[in-house]
Amino acid sequence: MFQRILVANRGEVALRVIRACKDLGIEVVAVFSEADRGAPYLGLADEAICIGPPSAAESYLKIPRLISAAEIANVQAIHPGYGFLSENPHFAEVCRACKIEFIGPPVEAMRLLGNKNEARKLAQKVGVPVVPGSEGLITDEKQALALAHAMSYPVLIKAAAGGGGRGMRVARNDISLQAGLKAARQEAESAFKDGSVYLEKYIEQPRHVEVQILADHHGKVVHLFERDCSLQRRHQKLVEESPAPGLPAKVREEICQAAVRLIKAADYANAGTCEFLVDRDHKFYFIEVNARIQVEHPVTELVTGLDLVREQIRIAAGEKLRFGQEHIRPRGCAIECRINAEDPFADFRPSPGRITRWEPPGGPGVRLDTHAVAGYTVPPNYDSLVAKLLVHQPTRDEAIACMRRALREFRVEGIRTTIPLHEEIFKHSAFVDGQVDTTFIERHWSKG
Ligand code: ADP
Repeated sequence: MFQRILVANRGEVALRVIRACKDLGIEVVAVFSEADRGAPYLGLADEAICIGPPSAAESYLKIPRLISAAEIANVQAIHPGYGFLSENPHFAEVCRACKIEFIGPPVEAMRLLGNKNEARKLAQKVGVPVVPGSEGLITDEKQALALAHAMSYPVLIKAAAGGGGRGMRVARNDISLQAGLKAARQEAESAFKDGSVYLEKYIEQPRHVEVQILADHHGKVVHLFERDCSLQRRHQKLVEESPAPGLPAKVREEICQAAVRLIKAADYANAGTCEFLVDRDHKFYFIEVNARIQVEHPVTELVTGLDLVREQIRIAAGEKLRFGQEHIRPRGCAIECRINAEDPFADFRPSPGRITRWEPPGGPGVRLDTHAVAGYTVPPNYDSLVAKLLVHQPTRDEAIACMRRALREFRVEGIRTTIPLHEEIFKHSAFVDGQVDTTFIERHWSKG
């Protein structure tokens, strides 16, 4: 096992990894940009190293700085968290070339799955259904128009290198397809330095269901069941829960098995997630693999009782999974609300600044993962996630009641947060009935 690990990330997930290391008795080194200097969670690490100015490009994304910090701190492994460099195969390669273990999947698997178009091809090869779409990348407008006519509108233009909902455009006719192609290409080029795009049939009002996977380096792959992440704004998740409400047992089993097949075919190891869309007839379609730990992983931790970050570290250290599929028995219902520093009623505009009041909820069945405290200043430079509020209860109805109570207890002042929107969601009869899909928030809070 490793003696010392560096966390190449910040905020909530940096603290999450620090805690996992402490629980394993491993020393942990944090890094920070000048914008995060003095952040309370840094004090919980054994050492904290400044890696540059506030701009992420000059700090959390700057590979030479991270590697220098790792060498100075003399660590054996780097945990990348989520976001930043977590899905960057080049970073993983550099780590390994420097004899530092990258706590994540093998470089080849990352490379393969990082390209959505390649991942689609692999899925098709192993009999996992994909959203109908173009066989390969779009080369010109004429081809795109012909494909869209063959598939029939609406279609979705997607960036091969996409992530975070960027480089994605819905097209409902020829004109919006032509405009969308240009816009998606430009957005993808500037965000990922790769402007290649492909087409998919746009599934109307689907649910987003994903399967958590753990795989070791000895050929063992298990799934940890599913999460429903249908509540999204601009293709970004806001509420996640497990089990997926109302998903027939047979479909659930098929989705989980499809995920395992795909992960095995990719020679994958460590934690990963296979994402699917489920249409109104419960037909499911693979969309992508997230080759990292995800924001919403605690939902699965609550229902399975496993610590996914500890498992990631053990897997990276070469240990075998100590349990088989038959040992994983999900219990009860878990729900997560993402608490972002943004104004949900003003188009989710970021709301950084100093938190003047911070009274977190507690009590039975409540878990709060956060790096924020009273007096903490949310910097404007990064993702707006400030906390993840989770509940775990025997049934979904009880989980909803518990979440309402926890949201009411949660008092934050000084910044705007998504808490008031969550309070409305958890009162909404369609949500309470489990009638969720990816357009739910757009349809009910159209200004947001
Ligand atoms: P990203 O990697 O940018 O997050 P994903 O492929 O994971 O993109 O898709 C994110 C979200 O976009 C999905 O959860 C879903 O809401 C929507 N989406 C993606 N593909 C489709 C599709 N073919 N039809 C309808 N919605 C889609």
